[in-house]
Amino acid sequence: MSTELNKPSPRMMPPRINRVPPASTMPERRHAFSPDIPRRGLPQSVVFADAGVLLCVCGRQTCIVHFANHYSGRLRIADCVEDEIRRLASPSGGYTKDGRLYSTARTAQFHILDAGIGVIEPSEACDARIFDQVHRQLVELAERNGKDVAVGSHLGEAMSIALCVQRSREGNKVIFLTNDGDASLIAEAYEVPARHFGHVLTELVCAGKYQPSEAFEMFSYTQEFSGVPMGARPTEVADLACVSADAICLKCDALT
Ligand SMILES: [Zn+2]
Repeated sequence: MSTELNKPSPRMMPPRINRVPPASTMPERRHAFSPDIPRRGLPQSVVFADAGVLLCVCGRQTCIVHFANHYSGRLRIADCVEDEIRRLASPSGGYTKDGRLYSTARTAQFHILDAGIGVIEPSEACDARIFDQVHRQLVELAERNGKDVAVGSHLGEAMSIALCVQRSREGNKVIFLTNDGDASLIAEAYEVPARHFGHVLTELVCAGKYQPSEAFEMFSYTQEFSGVPMGARPTEVADLACVSADAICLKCDALT
C-alpha cells in the first residue's frame, strides 16, 4: 500500500466557509420580566396594564373584584389599550370567530372600562418621540421574529411603555403589566419593569385573595387568549405560593 494516500493533504481538510454568518441583531432572550419586584408587588407603585393582562383578569368575575381592590387608586390604562379592548368587544370588530376572546373583551369593556376601574391615561400625556421610538422597536422585533404585524398593532403596548417612562420621569415608581415577551424586552430597555399575569396572581395570593391552586387554575385557564412566553410561566402550583406564614408576607420580599 502506498504511504502517499495516508499523508495529510489540504483535500482532507473540511472545505473552508467563506461566508461569515451576520452578527445577530435579535435579542437572545425571549422575555425580560423583571426579577427585581418582590413577589407581593410594590404597593406604592403606579401600574399600567395592557389589553392582554386585562383580558386575563376578566377570565373570572372574582378576579376582577380582587384585581380592582388590589390595585385600587394606582391602576392606569393607556387610551390606546382602551381602544383595543373596545375594538375586540365590538361585533363589527371581526373578532367574533373566537367566542371566548370576544366575550372576555366585552366583560373587560363593561366591568373594567365602563365601571371606572383604573384611570384612563391620555396619549397626549406621553412624549410622542418616545412613543414613536417604542412602537417602531416593537414592530421591528415582531417582524424579526417572523410574526404578522397588522396595521395598528402594538399601539397599546407602545403607549403604555411611553406613559410609564413619562410617569417615571415625574418621580413615580411604575410597573408595566404585560404578557408579551417582546414588550417586556423593550420595556426593560427603557428601565420600565414588566410583570405578567402570573405575577399579578402571585400578588393576589400573597394578599390572601387566592389559594395557590386557585391561582394556578386561573392562570392556566387564561393562557389560550393571552399567553405568557414559555420559560416565564409558572409551571406548578408551588410557583404561585406565598412562602410567608405571617399576614404581611415579608418573606416574599426576597423572592420574585
Ligand atoms: Zn407572600
